[in-house]
Amino acid sequence: MVDSRKVGVLGGGQLGRMLIEAANRLNVQVNVLDAAASPAKQISAHNGHIEGSFKDAAAVKRLAQISDVVTVEIEHVDTHMLEEVASEVVVEPSWKTLRTIKDKYAQKQYFKEHGVDVAESIDLEGKGADGLKEVGTSYGYPYMLKSKTEAYDGRGNFVLRSEADIDSALQALGTRPLYAERWADFRLELAVMVVKTKDGVLTFPTVETVHEDSICKLTYAPPRNVSESTSQRAQDLAKKAIGAFEGKGVFGVEMFLLKDDSLLINEVAPRPHNSGHYTIEACPISQYDAHLRAILDLPIPQSALRLREPSIMLNILGGKTPDSHVQVAKKALESPNASIHLYGKGDARPGRKMGHITITAPTLAAAEQEIQPLIEFVDEQKG
Ligand code: ATP
Ligand code: MG
Ligand code: MG
Repeated sequence: MVDSRKVGVLGGGQLGRMLIEAANRLNVQVNVLDAAASPAKQISAHNGHIEGSFKDAAAVKRLAQISDVVTVEIEHVDTHMLEEVASEVVVEPSWKTLRTIKDKYAQKQYFKEHGVDVAESIDLEGKGADGLKEVGTSYGYPYMLKSKTEAYDGRGNFVLRSEADIDSALQALGTRPLYAERWADFRLELAVMVVKTKDGVLTFPTVETVHEDSICKLTYAPPRNVSESTSQRAQDLAKKAIGAFEGKGVFGVEMFLLKDDSLLINEVAPRPHNSGHYTIEACPISQYDAHLRAILDLPIPQSALRLREPSIMLNILGGKTPDSHVQVAKKALESPNASIHLYGKGDARPGRKMGHITITAPTLAAAEQEIQPLIEFVDEQKG
């Protein structure tokens, strides 16, 4: 056994599942707190899992008692509970970091204070329709209305294209704590997975992310039509952003590359991230290996985070029929360089992340050629 310490994870979705895939290869035990047949538990047979909600204080306490290091696969956790257990168990990353990041507006303020370039934003809590109108006057349209909390896959975002959209925006998001962001007229979106260890901050390569309906659809590693120096700047910015936080583990950093070639942080995630799935096949160690090693203080050579081969990742989302994700996976079986991941989730709601496919090839062009029929097939499955 490489390490006899036990890792506890709040949440047992696909990110927890892929973390366990990495832990299993090192015989490291991961205790999952989530519902009984959650994706992560399905691939991990031992009696250390806890059945319940990661929002339940008693369950988090029990997890802390039977684990040596506690981490998260989701940031929407009760950081006060984690603060409480931090006196008994190591919590990585720090609950302070999770508290700042889980509130997207607090996160933006934090970056501003630390001199990290980030999309401009205004607090709208308690300001109602008049507040939204004022933002329109000062930012112009379109602008982005966002929920500060509990946001993922664009559920929590609303684009205002004119003053006439204010009513529908408030209908969609009015009950949530809101802020507004200036529109980022980006050329494309980039992401970098950053690894924070006891010794410093390391980065995986820069990738391009393509979103559709505010949900990540594809990642390209390396990015298409982006210079080496821009990729390097993205890594530097990601490093600076994450260097400002306390604690260890991997962090996903989402960025906008604007038309004038400048970079802005969109948001960060204090955990493995969709834009880092490609690392499983494309890099010597994956974002999951890196997260596990970082929180356990095991060695991570920076050169192990390099891109071995260009790669493209395609998400498999729930489509128009309950089994359309299975049809996509079956089609991908015919593709010689496709690695297929299905997450073992029950119901396929439209837009729900059900799995992903990664193709690696000697050139990005070859990977693009191989993935094209799969992109077309995925598009046909959309509702
Ligand atoms: P995630 O699943 O990544 O956590 P999220 O729900 O937190 O998503 P954001 O990352 O805020 O949502 O936004 C989703 C997408 O919407 C972005 O990747 C980008 O394509 C677009 N977007 C977000 N903010 C802006 C902005 N200020 N200007 C233009 N487009 C934006
Ligand atoms: Mg987000
Ligand atoms: Mg995002």
